[in-house]
Amino acid sequence: MPQPHIYQHYQIENRPEHDDSSPAYWFVFNSSQLLVNEKNSEIPFLEDLNELKLTPLRKIYLGKLHGHPSYAAEVDSDQTPQGMIFQDLRELYPLISHEIYLVAGRAIQIINWDKNHQYCGKCGSPTKTMDTEMAKICPQCGLINHTRISPAVITAIVKDGKLLMAKHNYGHYRKYGLIAGFVEAGETLEEAVQRETMEEVGLQIKNIQYFGSQPWPYPNSLMLGFTAEYESGEIKVDGQEISHARWFGVDDLPELPSNISISRELIEWYMENYSQD
Ligand SMILES: [Zn+2]
Repeated sequence: MPQPHIYQHYQIENRPEHDDSSPAYWFVFNSSQLLVNEKNSEIPFLEDLNELKLTPLRKIYLGKLHGHPSYAAEVDSDQTPQGMIFQDLRELYPLISHEIYLVAGRAIQIINWDKNHQYCGKCGSPTKTMDTEMAKICPQCGLINHTRISPAVITAIVKDGKLLMAKHNYGHYRKYGLIAGFVEAGETLEEAVQRETMEEVGLQIKNIQYFGSQPWPYPNSLMLGFTAEYESGEIKVDGQEISHARWFGVDDLPELPSNISISRELIEWYMENYSQD
């Protein structure tokens, strides 16, 4: 996949250099919305957030971006600095550079992880952020929690040149989409692909091939894309999660998902490989 690389100009570091008071890139979130300049959608580049009269609830060093320090910060105030707006990361996708989008995705996941791991899940003591890695340790019992990522699989399944798409029953996603779901503890990615396909549409599949992956920070997923071929069975939807599913040809595909997603890339892979001309 022609995905830009998060590490092209970004480098993970766990703590800033001691005397580093140079201007920094600030990924400031209010809930899931990123603070950007109203005119050009650029993120703040400042020595300190108090220049915008913002007092962050939390501030986490992310490493270097284009050789400058970069921080994730959370604010809860409704006060938006003049000339700036808080905007949903997904809406910003076409407006900001892909590099900023990727690091912003990391920033919001780290903010949420920091917020949700203030106390040890085992003994309830306040945790401490480790210096050596992005992890929290409990000083009482020693439990360590790294940033949590929930892997999910999504699969383009083809039969006789047609693509399987299913209509979901819940959430904001009621359009036709590919078969997808979270990986369960104890299974391989390929087993997750097979299980989700069986659960959602009752089909056996074969020739499961890895396609690519994409961080999906809504709120903390990693999407792993696969392609597969139909093997056996008749489409049978559960009626709960999935209301309807069928095979679509290249010429009668339903409305496509947004170009932000690996789902779209998988469908484009299908169109490129199964067009008649
Ligand atoms: Zn503990």
